[in-house]
Amino acid sequence: MAASSEIALSVKNIRKSFGDHEVLKGISLDAHQGDVISILGASGSGKSTFLRCINLLETPDDGEIVVAGEKVEMRRGKKGHLEPTNGKQVDRIRSELGMVFQSFNLWSHMTVLQNLIEGPVHVLGRPKAECIAEAEALLERVGLAERRNYYPSHMSGGQQQRAAIARALAMKPKVMLFDEPTSALDPELVGEVLRVMRGLAEEGRTMLVVTHEMGFARNVSNRVMFLHKGEVEADGSPDELFKETKSERFKQFISSQH
Ligand code: ADP
Ligand code: MG
Repeated sequence: MAASSEIALSVKNIRKSFGDHEVLKGISLDAHQGDVISILGASGSGKSTFLRCINLLETPDDGEIVVAGEKVEMRRGKKGHLEPTNGKQVDRIRSELGMVFQSFNLWSHMTVLQNLIEGPVHVLGRPKAECIAEAEALLERVGLAERRNYYPSHMSGGQQQRAAIARALAMKPKVMLFDEPTSALDPELVGEVLRVMRGLAEEGRTMLVVTHEMGFARNVSNRVMFLHKGEVEADGSPDELFKETKSERFKQFISSQH
């Protein structure tokens, strides 16, 4: 599906330092609805910190974040960095951003189905029966209908990650954020997770995907952003980057990937 002109997520000039290490040096990004943006970069280039700033797991030192037209209210705190000032808004915005981590992060003491309904029932306060019905449909979609009563430890990494994606979707997020969702998986399990992600992309979901899967970046995303030491070194369509880039750093990065 082609990206529409409506902006789902707008990030302007995000800066973040840890001590005197400036990890993000002013990163901006507009994601239109339906955009699938792959974020590439060497280890330590700031990719995770960027996603963590977007969903307010980290507070940026500077910059602006607008989710579905709503600007995150922040003011400068005593330590100099920005702090969100509206807790309710933070909760709402986090629920609009579905996050999928490298390490799955399912709740181990809950079954798959319980994992899926926990947020919708307890955070969004929606009727349980409705949430169960939706969760079952989502599990069907990610190929886990039969696993609804399994505990995470009894499933493969690929199944756990597909469950984690379904759990994020259960909150009906406006944007999905993926941080290296296949990096912790055995190679033979990577494909099943990528297929689910490709399906979401084809459905027109807005996605930011930190990944080392060059096939996904080239063939599924409609835009690629390459970070180098906390700066956007190259940014454009997959063809612009993979075929025409003038960035020596990007070329070097690509040749270092398998
Ligand atoms: P990437 O995801 O691209 O590998 P990260 O965003 O995880 O990079 O990290 C970027 C840099 O920031 C690294 O040098 C990392 O050590 C540093 N960093 C990340 N989180 C913290 C933290 N909480 N405290 C101190 N340094 C951090
Ligand atoms: Mg990372």
